[in-house]
Amino acid sequence: MANVTLRNVRKTYPGGFEAIKGVNVDVGDGQFCVLVGPSGCGKSTLLRMVAGLETVTGGDIDIGGRVVNQVEPADRDIAMVFQNYALYPHMSVYNNMAYGLRNRGMPEAEIKTRVEEAARILELAPMLERKPRQLSGGQRQRVAMGRAIVRQPKVFLFDEPLSNLDAKLRIAMRVEIRKLQRRLNTTSIYVTHDQLEAMTLADILVVMNGGQVEQVGNPLDIYEKPATTFVASFIGAPPMNLMSTRPDEIKSQLGANGGGADAGILGIRPEDFVITDQTPAGGVALPLTVEAIERVGAETFVYGARGHDGERVAATPGELPPGEIIVRIPGAEAPPIGQKIRVAAIRAK
Ligand code: ATP
Repeated sequence: MANVTLRNVRKTYPGGFEAIKGVNVDVGDGQFCVLVGPSGCGKSTLLRMVAGLETVTGGDIDIGGRVVNQVEPADRDIAMVFQNYALYPHMSVYNNMAYGLRNRGMPEAEIKTRVEEAARILELAPMLERKPRQLSGGQRQRVAMGRAIVRQPKVFLFDEPLSNLDAKLRIAMRVEIRKLQRRLNTTSIYVTHDQLEAMTLADILVVMNGGQVEQVGNPLDIYEKPATTFVASFIGAPPMNLMSTRPDEIKSQLGANGGGADAGILGIRPEDFVITDQTPAGGVALPLTVEAIERVGAETFVYGARGHDGERVAATPGELPPGEIIVRIPGAEAPPIGQKIRVAAIRAK
């Protein structure tokens, strides 16, 4: 069993900067855990502590039932895949994958079996004799993964492995990584700042901010029920619309559909608005003036300022954002810029 448990983990860098401020996460055996958050939130620091590349200032890191705080990286039974691949340029693909195993003194026959198996899974078999410079970015990334796979570790650690790839390849490799992990069933921790990657890969999603965990859970649960306004605006693109409203007003507007009317902040996902002159029973209706339109093919984003001329919505103290609302509608039909429309929320949180 290879659970990874972080118990009140802290990291203060020399110089006194507190990068991780007490993090608790439980990754079950075979689960895919994604650490997501904005630049500087501490996700790489946390991953590097699990790998043993950074010391732990406080708390415990437990891999497979053993506290590893003092265990050398090579003895942790983990394999890490880096953003820059870290391949040896002068070695063939075969030797890049074999290198770590040879260092451990594994017999050549066993190495050959493992490298060939990994090459087959990753569709690298025809390229084993090539050097990294003779490969595409996606192929290099697969070699980097092959090097992790041949180790047959208890845990895979991924540090933004796809960020050097172009958009199309990123999506293809994202699907490949997920399929691979399902097939090998190896406990994985994956760092990214890309919320879409996080949503699609994770069994368990950890949203971090400022060295702390904002929310942990199933990605769809987090999308549906963000615990904080930070999570609400970080998970989902374009972000959830956040408005401050008086709690009594929210209750009367939302009726039975009402989600949590936390601290008077109402969150409505762009896809949960419809353009209509009617206010659905128990719904919220807003007058908007269309300011911008983004057509992306199957759907269109309408950016509107709250209110119509001469009919502005009374500003509520502490209202956020100052009035812009994003509405997602299917298809490419959209009202023209400047049009006064009404939107109704079919769901709110
Ligand atoms: P990114 O997505 O930009 O890589 P991240 O979430 O992975 O960001 P970390 O690299 O873990 O963030 O850094 C967390 C914080 O710790 C940052 O404020 C960073 O400046 C700081 N930090 C990282 N490494 C060191 C170090 N060696 N010494 C001092 N501070 C550091």
